[in-house]
Amino acid sequence: MLILLASLPPPTESLPFPISSSHWCYQIQLKPSNYTCLGPDEWEGSCQNSRQSPVNIVTAKTQLDPNLGRFSFSGYDRKHQWVVENNGHTVMVSLGDEVSITGGGLSTRYRAKQLHLHWSKAMDRGSEHTFNGERFAMEMHIVHEKEKGPSRNTSEDEIAVLAFMVEVGSNNVNFQPLVEALSDIRRPNTNTTMKRSISLFDLLPEEESLRHYFRYLGSLTTPTCDEKVVWTVFQEPIQLHRDQILAFSQKLFYDHDQSVNMTDNVRPVQSLGQRQVFRSGAPGPLLSQPLPTLLAPALACLTVGFLR
Ligand SMILES: [Zn+2]
Repeated sequence: MLILLASLPPPTESLPFPISSSHWCYQIQLKPSNYTCLGPDEWEGSCQNSRQSPVNIVTAKTQLDPNLGRFSFSGYDRKHQWVVENNGHTVMVSLGDEVSITGGGLSTRYRAKQLHLHWSKAMDRGSEHTFNGERFAMEMHIVHEKEKGPSRNTSEDEIAVLAFMVEVGSNNVNFQPLVEALSDIRRPNTNTTMKRSISLFDLLPEEESLRHYFRYLGSLTTPTCDEKVVWTVFQEPIQLHRDQILAFSQKLFYDHDQSVNMTDNVRPVQSLGQRQVFRSGAPGPLLSQPLPTLLAPALACLTVGFLR
């Protein structure tokens, strides 16, 4: 067998369909790859099905769901020097096993696995989801897996992704350890460790704003686009300085030769079809107060009533 293989013509160049043809890529990589990779229109697996992500969220058409309450974040405050990887499609931070979420209308606990981002050089082209047709500079995804109960059935909510828009703003010092790590992972399949510790909360908007979000059922936004994601898209964007956003496109490359900058790693918006997008219950002024503040006057009234 080995002798036979050795006598075959060298692979790739001379073949009309090189071995790499089955590998997926973003639209922007098609031309530099001489159209040898599969662009979004040709992605395989479930990618051409009808419950796909990302989608455009038309806020006026979202439906209020009072069951979509606050999340409870566990381990999000843990400071750590995370490992950061260029995986050829994005920059990915592995999150170990100690970070999880409950609440937020989810059926059970979900454990965080990794976070990654999508971006562009253009400040209005880098997010995957859009709000009323408007794209943001970047989008960050924190990917969680459902904690396995007795049943191991595959379901439409096996994965919970928390999505955060990123917009241009003032310099975000909390993001800097991640931005600085990019210089060490320019090439695909390389990784590094952050020089300083950060927590997930360091990367997010104010915790108080996280009660406002959109919810729908969809898919992974990369092949094989499995339709098993319960999406949470937060209303409040993260703010990064323009230079921090541009660092992703400038430092990272799709290819080993560093000829194609990693940018526009964004899947086009998919049709919402028959699906409904929900929004979290907008609390009135009373409900936005912490519980003790609500209880104290109530208890006082009770006491007064009792004394009478
Ligand atoms: Zn993503």
